[in-house]
Amino acid sequence: MQLRRAARVLLVGAPGVGKGTQAERLLNRFPQLQSISTGDLLRHNVKSRTPLGIQVESVMKSGGLVADDLMLRLISNELQNRGWLARQTMTLSMAAVHSSHDAEHHLTSLRGQPSEDPAASFILDGYPRNAAQAHSLESIIPINLAVSLKTPFEVLLGRISGRWVHQPSGRVYNTSFNKPKVPGHDDITGEPLTKRPDDTEEVYRARYDQFQKANESLLEHYRQKGVLIEVEGMTSDEISPKLYAEFEKRFA
Ligand code: AMP
Repeated sequence: MQLRRAARVLLVGAPGVGKGTQAERLLNRFPQLQSISTGDLLRHNVKSRTPLGIQVESVMKSGGLVADDLMLRLISNELQNRGWLARQTMTLSMAAVHSSHDAEHHLTSLRGQPSEDPAASFILDGYPRNAAQAHSLESIIPINLAVSLKTPFEVLLGRISGRWVHQPSGRVYNTSFNKPKVPGHDDITGEPLTKRPDDTEEVYRARYDQFQKANESLLEHYRQKGVLIEVEGMTSDEISPKLYAEFEKRFA
């Protein structure tokens, strides 16, 4: 399905709620969309032993959050590499890391209008996670839809044990509701699936608590901007049609 306006979308939700699954489905349905998952970008850095990867590895393993300034640098670089940010806005993002609020606002006011070209449509998955990150992101690129995905905690905890990933592509499977065609192998490449080291109950609880703490102020940020919607469901299949309908109403 074709988009008629640019969609600049965030998916927000507890770890394991299926943000990756929904992003993948939206990408299939709306080919103009592209996606960025900060969790995948970070895991890629860890795996490739980049300086950033080495720096964030222990925080990620313990279920903590990577520092906001590192995240802003990561996301700015990624948006820049994909051509979704003008060179000027890259300078702004770097300035935002170091500058006072006043300087940031001054610089931000120099920015042009965001493109409404539907080809400039994207989903951010996993970023921003708190109000400070949302504020920083606003200085680079304005979001026009924030989706809060909601599933009960007990359902999410039960789901973690069944989650397997194909690391090179970021494709996510679940042995109870999104099985790979061949057990233990990726549908597209046939390569082996792996467990994420942070998919244990103990780590999950820590990540969920972190998420809850930061989430309310994040949602409030987007509620105040008038771009927040909530989509509830027990499973990804229950959530997807509601999400498609909201998307079509706004962008198709
Ligand atoms: P995810 O795959 O989105 O659950 O992310 C996995 C891990 O990467 C998280 O537990 C964090 O340690 C880190 N991470 C991903 N996105 C962010 C972010 N926006 N801010 C801080 N840490 C992040």
